[in-house]
Amino acid sequence: MNQLLSFSAILVLLCFCIGECKYMVYDTSQTVRADKINVHLVPHSHDDVGWLKTVDQYYTGANNSIRGACVQNVLDSVISALLDDRNRKFIYVEIAFFQRWWNQQSEVLKTKVKELVSTGQLEFINGGMCMHDEATPHYIDLIDQTSLGHMFIDREFGQKPRVGWQIDPFGHSAVQAYLLGAEVGFDSLFFARMDYQDREKRKNEKTLEFVWQGSKSLGSSSQLFTGIFPRHYDPPDGFTFEINDVSEPIQDDVLLFDYNVQERVNDFVAAAIAQANVTRTNHIMWAMGTDFRYQYALSWFRQMDKFIHYVNLDGRVNALYSTPSIYTDAKYAADETWPLKTDDFFPYADKANTYWTGYFTSRPTFKGYVRTMSGYYVAARQLEFYKGRNGSGPNTDALADALAIAQHHDAVSGTQRQHVAADYALRIAKGYAEAEEVVASSLTFLTSLRSSEYIEKSVGTFQQCPLLNISYCPPSEAVLGDGKSLVIVVYNPLGWEREEVVRIPVSSHELIVLDSGGKEIKSQLLPIFNASLNTRNYHVKAYLGKSPSNTPLYWLGFTASVPPLGFNTYIISSAKHTDTRSTMSTVWTSDSTSDKTVVVGGGNLKLHYATDEGKLTHYINNRSLVEESMEHSYSYYSGHNSTNQASGAYIFRPNGAFPIKTEGQKAFAILKGPIMDEVHQELNPWIYQITRVYKEKEHAEVEFTIGPIPIDDGIGKEITTQITTNFKTNKTFYTDSNGRDFIKRVLDFRTDWDLQVNEPVAGNYYPINLGAYVEDGTMELSVLVDRAVGGSSLVDGQIELMLHRRLLFDDAKGVGEVLNETICVQGDCKGLVVQGKFYIRIDPMGDGAKWRRTFGQEIYSPLLLAFAEQEGDDWKNSHASSFSMIDASYSLPNNTAIITLQELESGKVLLRLAHLYEVGEDKDYSAMASVELKKLFPNRKISKVTEMNLSGNQERGEMEKRRLNWKVKDSSEGKIVRGGGVDPEKLVVELGPMEIRTFFIDFDYLTPKKGRAVILIIMFTVAEDGEGVADKNNHPYTAMGAVGRLAVAAAAAVEGMEIRRFL
Ligand SMILES: [Zn+2]
Repeated sequence: MNQLLSFSAILVLLCFCIGECKYMVYDTSQTVRADKINVHLVPHSHDDVGWLKTVDQYYTGANNSIRGACVQNVLDSVISALLDDRNRKFIYVEIAFFQRWWNQQSEVLKTKVKELVSTGQLEFINGGMCMHDEATPHYIDLIDQTSLGHMFIDREFGQKPRVGWQIDPFGHSAVQAYLLGAEVGFDSLFFARMDYQDREKRKNEKTLEFVWQGSKSLGSSSQLFTGIFPRHYDPPDGFTFEINDVSEPIQDDVLLFDYNVQERVNDFVAAAIAQANVTRTNHIMWAMGTDFRYQYALSWFRQMDKFIHYVNLDGRVNALYSTPSIYTDAKYAADETWPLKTDDFFPYADKANTYWTGYFTSRPTFKGYVRTMSGYYVAARQLEFYKGRNGSGPNTDALADALAIAQHHDAVSGTQRQHVAADYALRIAKGYAEAEEVVASSLTFLTSLRSSEYIEKSVGTFQQCPLLNISYCPPSEAVLGDGKSLVIVVYNPLGWEREEVVRIPVSSHELIVLDSGGKEIKSQLLPIFNASLNTRNYHVKAYLGKSPSNTPLYWLGFTASVPPLGFNTYIISSAKHTDTRSTMSTVWTSDSTSDKTVVVGGGNLKLHYATDEGKLTHYINNRSLVEESMEHSYSYYSGHNSTNQASGAYIFRPNGAFPIKTEGQKAFAILKGPIMDEVHQELNPWIYQITRVYKEKEHAEVEFTIGPIPIDDGIGKEITTQITTNFKTNKTFYTDSNGRDFIKRVLDFRTDWDLQVNEPVAGNYYPINLGAYVEDGTMELSVLVDRAVGGSSLVDGQIELMLHRRLLFDDAKGVGEVLNETICVQGDCKGLVVQGKFYIRIDPMGDGAKWRRTFGQEIYSPLLLAFAEQEGDDWKNSHASSFSMIDASYSLPNNTAIITLQELESGKVLLRLAHLYEVGEDKDYSAMASVELKKLFPNRKISKVTEMNLSGNQERGEMEKRRLNWKVKDSSEGKIVRGGGVDPEKLVVELGPMEIRTFFIDFDYLTPKKGRAVILIIMFTVAEDGEGVADKNNHPYTAMGAVGRLAVAAAAAVEGMEIRRFL
């Protein structure tokens, strides 16, 4: 009946047209209809923020021999096509591109585009700077990159993206669903890639759409409607219309020989019905576009105009221009009860032997660099805030931008071409250089007791050592003497006090370390061995283009004690007497004893080694009474080279596992001393490892140096390490989601379907950002990492991490290059060497979370070191030797962290607080936490606290009112704990387990009481004139010195004037 009707409709139209019809007006105004299958046509372009080309090359259309792609063309032509027909719609996702385009447009066009956005023709969805990867970024980076984009959209358009659009990432994380989905205010999330077995089952059961609860702790309070495309993020076959695409266009002029309206309408209806058969409700979505499409937008819109027109005349299904928001609202209006999904979508396989688990480790040094810079950015923003943001720079904005695009799913994932990886790293390095200036000038400002003039002059006082990990640090290596000594300011970006060992390379063995009170403290010297020096010298030359001028002889280690969000100062000078100088480590080698066992560790933790083979045999903690056998080994997988499916940048496809045996007896040495013990092992010419046990810590730290991985046998290799105990762990292990929630994994098992196992190793690999653990009911073995890696527990009681990979075949997933990284000095290249750390600990059952969470945060936010030189005793007299931003009697509870403290361009301060524990994870710390804002900012008057959504683009209350509440099948859960509202008088923020709360804080001009001003004057003795009075604009102090400001504060207190801010 329907068919008959529609056919006659077309006949009518034909009759009307024959012989006279030249200009056609297409009716594209159709909206949703309740009585038909609605085909939501969603025009989109998937624009990778760097992959085969750099972000700028993609934007401008440069380097088109690699790939004809120019995002500028996409945006230019889309905007014009939207203005031509007000029914057309388009979504845009990647703000890194949009921002580049927007900044170049005229005010006239900007006004028109704003109108397109306000009418919903152009909609921003996802809205971060990039479409981030979900396996390898840290959640703090995900929040930052999303916030940067969302705040841009809010600032320019007043819009809040409603939909997550993670169509291309290679697997999907729980943190994406609840944190970067629900908590930013999204109503839905859409993606394309999922396990092929899971997809088949979901198609059969019509469960490609569901409600996803990513967090055990936040449960239904953070759930998200999620839709997976039945195949990929492009249209059904035959409906792609880029200029060179082969789909048949609609030819509706009857004079054309190939007139085909009815055939094409039939094709459309058939594809719609096929999709409707695997979808609940009468709404289906077609993602009309794919990678870098709409470079000539009309080629798409022209066809969609016609399809909408003729399909609706036909009437069997309803076709409309739509967006994922319109689609989401239609799904919601259908009032369906949706199936529930928990945990995540890792690992992803698109075929039996194609597991996308290699990229969890690909480009390990880049992953390490991104993570290091991420932690640095958190600290740099704090220091920027203390001093006052400088809008015209230097500031941390460039580092923010660089880190944001580095979260793209072909950036930190390691799946881009080599020249693109270099481009990301260069952007980060430039951002770092500017942030380093911010940090140095803020520390100069915070430490100086002198005039602003002095401070301006001494901006170069502080040096930092980004290559400290390879023992390169010119200021600490400088030979001390002639009254010169080294000043180290140690900054702690966390909200609790820390005692940690600081290690720096030095050139003398006659040294003494003094704390900020001038008291001599314990220190230890450890000789730097040739293996480390070789790594150092080669890489310094590679990075800086010149050989280091000094050669340090020792590491100097001492314990720094640093207040929360503050610093402490240590002074190192040459020692005159042997009885006060640093303790030289004793060096023990295997041929110096006949004992079978050697014990390492001067505190509670003892590691036992068998002297004959140099093997770790036991892990013993005298305090917790843990006593377990433990082995630590390395092995490699040879990369499959089959043309059918090779191991490559994305794919892990092993072709056999091979243990790496220690070659001979060389270089098994143990250094012992009062601060730490170290075990040095050169396993072979390309694996060197140091196992470190600090006297005051109860974990082992392993520093590995791996590479160049040999490939002269023509075989690519993927290097792993195994920590093995006898625990019976029942095939069960836990890995984190983006450094946050831990998710239970079971070997060869998936929660959502009966897994057919084709790749017993690669199919059991998961991304690890924080760590992994196993437990046997009485003990927990935890391993924490310093960057994203892949890992698993393939054998009971064992944790395996993949640390490095070098492969000789492309895995045919698009990058078209082999993952064979090299490092070059003057054109002479060798395989990439990676140096990194992981940390091992065993706890009695139930105690492991404390270490994983608290120490995990310390790994992410290491102490920041800044170095200066002093002559005589000058430093102490002219500098503040310690500082804490927060009230001296206060510290953040150990289950919370400040993950963002940042002065925004608007002058408001962005504060994000995170609860670090999951519900039920720890008997003490999984409780509600509270943070007293007044004590966080003791010297500033808080005038207003506004709670925001996670990305800071809308008030939390409004977001909650607006968000859709989906009906879920089989949902049962306990009470969800979240913090209550913040009383404007008390200003105490409560945080439930795993909760992150985001605030904008306004500070008042301060009117200090006389008492405070007097105290400050006493503290800072020198007052200076001529500083003028603090103005009331946003940045009154950026050009003023500490003392100048304090003098102003004092003067103002006397005269009753307003002062906006001081420390
Ligand atoms: Zn992509």
